Amino acid sequence: MNPSLAIESERARAQGEPVAAAPRSGLAGFADLHLHTLFSDGTFTPEELAERGRRLGLVAMALTDHDTVEGCGRMGRACASLDIEFIPGTELTAEYDGHEVHLLGYFLEVEHPRLLGEIKKFQTVRQNRIREMASRLNKLGVPLRAESVFELANCHSPGRPHVGRALVLEGLCSSVDEAFEKYLKKGRPAWVPKYKISALEAMDLIHQAGGLAVLAHPALNHSDHIIPNLVGQGLDGMECFHTRHTADMTEHYLKMAGRLNLAVTGGSDCHGYSKGKPLIGGVKLAAVYLEKLKQARLNRACRPRPAAANSA
Ligand code: AMP
Ligand code: ZN
Ligand code: FE
Ligand code: FE
Repeated sequence: MNPSLAIESERARAQGEPVAAAPRSGLAGFADLHLHTLFSDGTFTPEELAERGRRLGLVAMALTDHDTVEGCGRMGRACASLDIEFIPGTELTAEYDGHEVHLLGYFLEVEHPRLLGEIKKFQTVRQNRIREMASRLNKLGVPLRAESVFELANCHSPGRPHVGRALVLEGLCSSVDEAFEKYLKKGRPAWVPKYKISALEAMDLIHQAGGLAVLAHPALNHSDHIIPNLVGQGLDGMECFHTRHTADMTEHYLKMAGRLNLAVTGGSDCHGYSKGKPLIGGVKLAAVYLEKLKQARLNRACRPRPAAANSA
């Protein structure tokens, strides 16, 4: 192993952080392929995020804001100016057989008309959901206006973290965690289920837009048994390295990815200061995995793209 990689692995192990395996080829460096900005529920601008990546020595970064690719243009330019490779992406919330799954799309054509059309629908659903959450809060005697959430979010993809922050800002909760615990968590009185497209539709959409579909943080969904079916429907990769994966989970999913011939990805899922401290830097994906992801992209490019009729 390259000595600097060995040192990084030892430091991560000592601090109980997930450790990305060292590259076996000559490919050096680390990537973070799961990042959010203020174009969804993160708090960093694309430029701030890219600058953080530079300071951490990342060689590649992917932007995966929820239901939007709007930040990709700025992030791409910021990364280019810092000599960091950039992968345009998004994170879609989907559903398979009653299980919620998050699908990351990578290498997307961010001007793809169908992708943009579908994203617009997801964003409308998100905005209506905020209105419904505000209405439920009002019925509980909590005077939060949906407009306050939209002003605070200042983006097209508002979500529960924005509702939580607005509740804190207006003095209606003492912390975002309290807001989730009291009102916003699944099953709490202001929780509103989110419409989810099927995993097949989400993967087809990603493939139509020239991208690869990767299952995000599988350990958080507790639904390993559906993964082979997702592979059968076109899944290209799995996020084995993630902030909330323990070393054992990572090992488990690396083995599964090997068995199912899936590309391996990883990322911090950094939301800036939205959930405590910024997570960027906590998960570093060895660059060799990125090269394999690019190979998977080439392989997929050789296949016909799915027809739009198959999609939502
Ligand atoms: P939504 O897409 O609107 O359902 O919101 C999901 C987002 O809320 C994800 O980014 C979660 O990580 C985030 N989230 C869940 N629980 C909490 C919490 N206790 N504090 C802050 N953010 C949270
Ligand atoms: Zn988020
Ligand atoms: Fe997620
Ligand atoms: Fe995420």
